[in-house]
Amino acid sequence: DIADITPLVASLNPAQKEAVTAPPEHRLVLAGAGSGKTRVLVHRIAWLITVENVSPLSVLAVTFTNKAASEMRGRIEQLITVPIRSMWVGTFHGIAHRMLRLHWKEAGLVQNFQILDADDQVRLVKRVLKALDMSDEQWPPKAVTHWINAQKEEARRPQHMSDLGDYTQRQYVRVYTAYEEACTKSGVVDFAELLLRAFEITRDNPEIQAHYRRRFRHVLVDEFQDTNTLQYAWLKVLAGDTGTMFAVGDDDQSIYSWRGARVENMVRLEKDFPGTEVIRLEQNYRSTGTILKAANGLISKNTNRLGKNLWTDGGDGEQIQLYASYNEYDEAEFVANRARELLDGRCRYSDLAILYRSNAQSRVLEEILIRARIPYRIYGGLRFFERQEIKDALAYLRLLHNRDDDTSFERTVNTPARGIGATTMEKLREISRASGVSLWMAAKNASSQLGRSAGNMGQFLKLIDDLHAETRDLPLSKATELLIARTGLRDHYRKEKGEQAEARLENLDELISAARSFEVDPGAASAAENPDEPVLDPLTAFLTHAALESGEEQAGPGEDCVQLMTLHAAKGLEFPVVFIVGVENGLFPSARAIDEGNLEEERRLFYVGITRARRKLYLSYAEVRRVHGVEQIGAPSMFLKEVPAECVSETRPRAGILRPGFGAREPQSGYGGGYRGAGSGGGYGGSAAGRPLPRTVVAGSSGLGPGGFRLGQRVEHPKFGEGTILSFDGDGDRAQIEVKFRDAGTKRLVLGFANLRGL
Ligand code: ATP
Ligand code: MG
Repeated sequence: DIADITPLVASLNPAQKEAVTAPPEHRLVLAGAGSGKTRVLVHRIAWLITVENVSPLSVLAVTFTNKAASEMRGRIEQLITVPIRSMWVGTFHGIAHRMLRLHWKEAGLVQNFQILDADDQVRLVKRVLKALDMSDEQWPPKAVTHWINAQKEEARRPQHMSDLGDYTQRQYVRVYTAYEEACTKSGVVDFAELLLRAFEITRDNPEIQAHYRRRFRHVLVDEFQDTNTLQYAWLKVLAGDTGTMFAVGDDDQSIYSWRGARVENMVRLEKDFPGTEVIRLEQNYRSTGTILKAANGLISKNTNRLGKNLWTDGGDGEQIQLYASYNEYDEAEFVANRARELLDGRCRYSDLAILYRSNAQSRVLEEILIRARIPYRIYGGLRFFERQEIKDALAYLRLLHNRDDDTSFERTVNTPARGIGATTMEKLREISRASGVSLWMAAKNASSQLGRSAGNMGQFLKLIDDLHAETRDLPLSKATELLIARTGLRDHYRKEKGEQAEARLENLDELISAARSFEVDPGAASAAENPDEPVLDPLTAFLTHAALESGEEQAGPGEDCVQLMTLHAAKGLEFPVVFIVGVENGLFPSARAIDEGNLEEERRLFYVGITRARRKLYLSYAEVRRVHGVEQIGAPSMFLKEVPAECVSETRPRAGILRPGFGAREPQSGYGGGYRGAGSGGGYGGSAAGRPLPRTVVAGSSGLGPGGFRLGQRVEHPKFGEGTILSFDGDGDRAQIEVKFRDAGTKRLVLGFANLRGL
């Protein structure tokens, strides 16, 4: 029906249309940033379902983040009428996990296997090293973990390499072997293992292989340039001879080689999937001509490109603004000032993104944004589920679920303190090792060998057994609440002195609310009828979410605020206005990349950053920046010279401001020309650095806060309703205030904007 087809193709250019409507054969869409690759992928799926009558069950769509997956689903649903609930759309990890839950037996896992996150993985490796009498110093656990993951990403198991290599290699293999045993014993699976197991069962189990090959006739992959060896191998066995591949990617945006991504997969695809046609898209719909010209000029300095160019028939737009700041505070103020001007105009907060090379750069930006009363969100910072108090509570939940989970046992046994010390634990580990049982079993069986701590240990075991009995029939949120109280975690954090205590208690409350959303929803029954959907009990679903949720969505949906994130996290996204800060040598490109002469990936990262911007782009660097507490003098990034000069205009420092140590500044002519000498003494930073840092006052201390409000006072907000003040940050009407609303949850508000009324 033509009416069904029109919306799928009407808004596409000829090359895009060709890709979307291609016959079901292998295709590689190789195209630059903003040329509509993701859009083509979405329309292709809709086309297959509507026009080619492909069942949504036959489609496997792989995206780079969970957020991208849910957006993709939403956009497909807007284009077609067929329900697509049963369609598999997700990240590699998400899809691998789903497969392992369905086939845990064939994968050699326990049914209730749990996922070990990155941090717990390092801890476990550390314990394994200890058990093997290998010293932490000689064998840094992080490096060993990295090595193990790299092996898994190349699909190498220890048995494939036991006799290979030198002494170091053999030692590594020893740890890898013992680490695998420890994971199996505890029933846990790390991130890399999720993928490796899923790959292995697809490759080695004929029934599973046949099943998925029959099912997934259409495999579609976004951001294909960042697939690693294992992911590629898995796609290959999934597709077999019968599935068609539709991959979209941009070699110029390959920015994860440090995590094993192999851009060569783009070339391999053409060889491995016979008849693959390459489709190029060159028209960019995202950015202004100037921004594109800058991006093209920069990336042309890379060698080994697959080659493509971008053009737009939109206007040139404004020049890119470059600001040479005195230091990072000045830089942040520049950003805040420009943001203010834009916000006074037509922009919404969420139109603005601030991108940086390293997470540590966000602190000063946050400080200045708070003062400027600009609401912001950090996208992909420390994940909620990675916080200490949350991990403590989750470890208890996991231990209730599976007593043999040694990682959770270790974490909980003396948190809060129960008089079970290091010596006792050492002993217990020895017993567990010698008898080949979990720590839990060792503690149960051998309490007599634990000496004076035996009583305390016995109480801990009883606590866990009792809690299990008490929580078994409770809804998950109630169980979580009870556990936080009964284990003493809540009191433990309540007693903790300092500013963080209140935040931790809040987070524990938040965990209880989060658990609520995993309680069985009677409306979800239909999903259970599908044999291709794993049915998870609420606890497992919740723990899995905690492990796989990648912290992308920290802002509540629809909240209007400025977005802060690393350049890596910005991949695939777009914003009307983009600030890239810290564009200086040693930071961007990183010192390491400069040392190693490995600049191409950093250049691609800058290319990714520039091409996120739709209308306006601001770049800035600091002449002096404090790095790890030490002031360093920075030169503008070498990449700035690679951007065509006519695309950039350097904004002059604000007139009339004299900075200590710098003297009066003349307008600079070029932007590529080195830095000003930093003066001696005196300190830098002018206005911003001179101000007191924001203070945090936690509920429970006394006194009036900013705006004449009291901690604990009841207030009313026009939108969020009634609530109680928990803390203040900073002073004056620029202060932030944290309010726990009765219905809307806890919010941080800027006092001057919040319109709060005391009750
Ligand atoms: P990236 O490489 O950054 O992931 P991309 O190639 O995936 O970019 P998209 O995000 O799909 O590009 O598209 C970029 C922007 O251009 C989006 O806002 C999209 O809606 C718009 N766009 C793409 N194609 C067209 C078109 N034919 N007409 C109008 N707008 C389009
Ligand atoms: Mg894209």
